[in-house]
Formats: sequence, structure tokens, C-alpha cells
Amino acid sequence: MLKLDNHPSGRHFLHIPGPSPVPSRVLRAISYQTIDHRGPEFGAFGLELLQKIRLLFKSDDPVIIYPASGTGAWEAALVNTLNPGDTVLMYESGHFAALWKRLAQRIGLNTEFISKPGLEGWRGGVDAKAIEERLKSDPDHLIKAVCVVHNETSTGVTSDIAAVRAAMDAANHPALLMVDTISGLGSANYEHSGWGVDVTVSGSQKGLMLPPGLSFNTISAKALAASKTATLPKAFWAWDEILEANQTGYFATTPATNLLYGLSEAIDMILGEGLDQVFARHQKLALACRAAVKAWGLEVLCQDPSVYSPVVTSVLVPESIDADALRKLIHEKYNLSLGTGLGKLKGKVFRIGHLGDCNELSLLAALSGCEMGLAAYGFTPKASGVVAAQNILM
Ligand SMILES: *Cc1c(COP(=O)(O)O)cnc(C)c1O
Repeated sequence: MLKLDNHPSGRHFLHIPGPSPVPSRVLRAISYQTIDHRGPEFGAFGLELLQKIRLLFKSDDPVIIYPASGTGAWEAALVNTLNPGDTVLMYESGHFAALWKRLAQRIGLNTEFISKPGLEGWRGGVDAKAIEERLKSDPDHLIKAVCVVHNETSTGVTSDIAAVRAAMDAANHPALLMVDTISGLGSANYEHSGWGVDVTVSGSQKGLMLPPGLSFNTISAKALAASKTATLPKAFWAWDEILEANQTGYFATTPATNLLYGLSEAIDMILGEGLDQVFARHQKLALACRAAVKAWGLEVLCQDPSVYSPVVTSVLVPESIDADALRKLIHEKYNLSLGTGLGKLKGKVFRIGHLGDCNELSLLAALSGCEMGLAAYGFTPKASGVVAAQNILM
């Protein structure tokens, strides 16, 4: 059990880029009674949910819901469509891209990683031209899939997926396009069908405002066709039985019933606000956050303004600051959680999450905690980031 005996007053400011704060409306929905997942009410609920979730992905294709974290849905995308030893082309945009590659290797795929030296690839978006060149030098079509991360949560970069699709089309290459939008979905614009994605992978605990525990595969007709002959071992992740059960609103195994209540509520909240309004809110919060970083005299990790993430900002700190010691101090003094530097960025950045259920004042509070924490650490900000952010938000 959590030690709650000296719970601090006020609320905890959860500004890691996932899990993100769960709105009380979603928490209340999750607390409904667990019902019979083979009973008639469940079927009706399931059918409606499986239809409306497509709107989040802007998808004409079906969405599978797994009771698993995002990593499970990464694996599901690969094992359902590929054969042992197949080559997949992946792009090193940051830590999550590197983890997906490691997973692909562990399940017996041959991975090719387009990387740039040092931190270069981690400070911008996926280079669609580099993917196009590589595909053009694969006349025998040995590359079976191209895998890219839409919102790279480790760096604060949102890549242009339409450009990756265009690069694959320009190379006239039949590989499947697989995209991870685990942290972007529900907060940053995403278009599964419009961008011609074959498998979209996502998760519940980031832009979607849910607790951890659900993840998704959205499956194009081409990916579904590939799944009929793919021979990588799979049982729990296999799409066929799940899709079959989903036809009538049910699931092949016991679903995470209460998380599905929460999912339904979160989708209603997002659609109620309007997808475009939700995306615009996040763009504005991100703009204000970057203004604060600049005012402090610190640097935003992403160097290409056309791919700044609307959901997370990675802040590069000078050598005199250990970003993890700074985060620890801020957590202890102000009950504010910030994201750590992952992989190559360990100790070099802290990340401010402004995804999901975030508004102007929650962001300003987080920025205020950062600003006071920087001062307490001994770093004197050049100017007030809080004021700079207020000026954007007013
Ligand atoms: C969080 C995250 C993952 C991993 O998801 P888990 O739910 O931790 O398994 C993968 N990719 C991206 C981009 C993420 O942000």
C-alpha cells in the first residue's frame, strides 16, 4: 500500500509525459460496478466503444484494445504481420524508437536502424528523405515494414507521418507502415487512414487521460491481409480471434472492463471538447511552455520548430546542472513530478508533460515549480518563465 500517512496538502502535480493526470470524470466512470463481460449490456457497450474509438485515430479501420501497456501493442503489431527473420526499417528518433528496435530484435526480426551521430537524430523529426533513399535501394523488397514513432516522448518531437507515407510511395515500396503514437493520441493530431498507416500502436496513459493498462492496434486492410500468412509465434496477441469477438462487441479473453468504462468516458470528453479544440489547446500550452524555457535562458531540446511536440517539452540544462538532481529537489520541495532524461539524455534534460487533462493554470503551476526549483538549485533564471508563459496564455 502507498504510504499515505504523511500525504502532502494540496494535489500532486503530475507533469511527467505519461501517465498523465486522470480527470475525476474518468475516475468516476472506472468506479462503476464490474459487469458480466459476456452479458447483453456489455455487448452493446463494447460495440459502441469499438466504433467511437475509431474517431480518435481518424480511422476507417478496426481498433483492437489490449489489456497491456504500450509495449505489448508494439509487439502485437510486429508478430501479427511479419515472419521470423524479416527485415524492418526503423528510425532512431529517440529512446522509444530504440526500445521498439530492441523489442523487434528480441522477437527474431532483422532490424535496420537509420541513425544520426550523437544527439543529432534526437533533436529533430524522422528524416523521410533518408527512408525514401533506403527503400529505393531495396529493389527486391526485402524490407517488410517501416516503423516510426509519431510523438517521441523522450525528446519532445512530433514527426511528420504524412511525409513518411509520401516517401514510401515515392520509392514505390510495398512495406507496411507502422506508427507508434502511444503518447500523442488524444492530444496531438493523428490520422491513421488519411496518412495511410497500416498499423497504429497506441496506449492509454498519456494523451488519452486514462490510467496505464490499455493499448491499441489500429489495423489497415493491408496489415490484416499480411496477418493471414504471418508466421511469427503469437497466441495472446493474435488479431484473428479478437477481431472475431469484437464483431459483436465482445472480447476474446476477459477485457479490462473498468478501464474500458474510463476509455469510453475519456473519448466522450475529447469529442465533447472537439478534437480540433483539444489539439489547439495543446499547441498553445506547448508554445507557452517553450516561451518559459527560453525566458529562463535554457534550451528546448528540439531544434526544428516545425516538429515541436504539443504534448511534452524536453529542456536541455547546462553542464552545471544535473537534471535528475534538479527533478528530485523539485519533487521534494513542491510535490511536482517532471520527466527524467532517457537513454542518451540521462541527466541532461528534464521533461515537462503538458498532455491530456492539462490547462493554463496547471501548466503555470508546473512552470512555477520549475522556476522556484531552478533558483533553489542555485541556477538563476534569466527572466521569469511563468510571466513569459502568462503572456502567451493571456
Ligand atoms: C510510453 C511510451 C512507450 C511505452 O509504453 P508502455 O506503456 O510504457 O509500455 C512507447 N512509445 C512511446 C512513444 C511512449 O511514450
